[in-house]
Amino acid sequence: MSLVQIPDQPFVCRNLVGGEWQEPTGVEWRDIVSPYTGGVVGKVPLCGAKEVAEIVAKAEPAARAWRSVPLKERTQHLFHFRELVLANIDRLSNLAALEAGKTVAEARAGVLKGVEILEFALSLQNLDKGDSMDVSRGVKCETVREPLGVVAGISPFNFPAMVPMWLFPTAVTLGNAFVLKPSEKVPMSACVLGELMLEAGYPPGVFSIVHGEQAAVEGVVDDPGIKAIGFVGSTKVAKIVYGRAASHGKRSLCLGGAKNHLILVPDADPAVAVDGVVSSFVGCAGQRCMAASVLVAVGDCNALIEKIVERARGVELGRDMGALIDPAASARLAEALTMAEKDGAKIILDGRTVAKPAGYEGGNWLAPTIIDNAKGDWDCATRELFGPIITIVRVDTLQQALEFEQKNPYGNATSVFTSSGAVAQFVSDNATSGMVGINIGVPVPREPFAFGGNKDSRFGVGDMTGMGGVELWSYTKKVTTKWELQEDATWMS
Ligand code: NAD
Repeated sequence: MSLVQIPDQPFVCRNLVGGEWQEPTGVEWRDIVSPYTGGVVGKVPLCGAKEVAEIVAKAEPAARAWRSVPLKERTQHLFHFRELVLANIDRLSNLAALEAGKTVAEARAGVLKGVEILEFALSLQNLDKGDSMDVSRGVKCETVREPLGVVAGISPFNFPAMVPMWLFPTAVTLGNAFVLKPSEKVPMSACVLGELMLEAGYPPGVFSIVHGEQAAVEGVVDDPGIKAIGFVGSTKVAKIVYGRAASHGKRSLCLGGAKNHLILVPDADPAVAVDGVVSSFVGCAGQRCMAASVLVAVGDCNALIEKIVERARGVELGRDMGALIDPAASARLAEALTMAEKDGAKIILDGRTVAKPAGYEGGNWLAPTIIDNAKGDWDCATRELFGPIITIVRVDTLQQALEFEQKNPYGNATSVFTSSGAVAQFVSDNATSGMVGINIGVPVPREPFAFGGNKDSRFGVGDMTGMGGVELWSYTKKVTTKWELQEDATWMS
């Protein structure tokens, strides 16, 4: 069975500079390797500050012209882009699956989530009208929203199309020019988004792409022409980017990694809990920042846990669950499992022993894995593993479950599975994550509710999507106006 379509020709990624595709010279290139096969499916240039500067030189005049195009007119291009994304959804989903290792269905869901965020940006033309009031006799105060100029987004490997669409539709609709630095591991989907942005009629330079790794990110963060940065990736890099941007006095919002807690209470509805837990830690092979990573079982949850193990055992590699991004991820997870065993944990479902899908033996595979009886301070219970592994930590009380959650440095998502409104409320009130789920394993807010974590899962103020994105990619200008001297003046007139 074919899990993903492998194109005949390798995909050559180019930078998008001033509306034109350019192959940079004098730089190194990196192979794009599919997690499904281990085979090369394309190549990507590794750029740096020089290529970023060339892009910014074209983007700056584009930003100056674009900001004076009325919002309603700017939005028309986004309507067109949305149609093009939907018309190309099969191609985009296949490419995102091929480069990130997701199943094609998961990749498709990611594109559709991106479209939902794009639809929020479409609605700005009806929402973002500013504000004004006569604050005194003859004196009016007015707030208008202004773009920042050239801004940039830096994205991770695990959502090749969706995360870029968290960032640029809102930024561009608000009147900024946008530079995307996609993950070097999954740059092909970003190139297709670039093609579609050109086809949607955005003026040259309004949307640009620079490829690369650390040097490209440093080029983006340091370039004085880039006024704000949205970063999504690991906590280690989020912290570096946030600190470096701040050292330039530059605005940034940097989302980082996660260690998401699912709190399981014996009164949980088995059907809801089993489905919620398994789809959360298995979906996208656990490679999403909202994936369940620790199952905190409060009291005797054995009957529920048995069902969870059985459901997870039935997940078929390849058909239901995709591959790990690269051999380094496989090695990292293997090491974490060895360490958990050494610490004394029991592996009650071992994905290492499951055969790789036929025809895809060169890929990076790990079937769902469940670690039981872990202590709360062990590596497997505290560190982000980023794979289809869930660690069960058993506690006696809800209070202990929450203390454990509160102690973890990450704060992306926390969920509880229970039939009790009081328990749900207690968790919701006391959890320290930015996103909380009640009987939902992946509590991603749907638009217009914004996406963003807390603690070490986010550096900066606000959220990445919804009105959070509007605040990130714009500033408010306050205008106070008086036309005439007032006879009946107040102190302000
Ligand atoms: P990563 O941090 O390795 O890479 C993210 C981006 O940073 C990439 O574009 C990469 O080129 C760049 N980069 C890598 N190393 C760098 C360095 N030393 N200096 C500057 N830039 C560097 O993340 P990843 O492995 O691609 O993605 C997985 C991580 O992202 C996980 O930790 C996951 O939890 C997190 N993530 C978080 C969210 C969220 O919303 N909080 C969403 C998706 C993924």
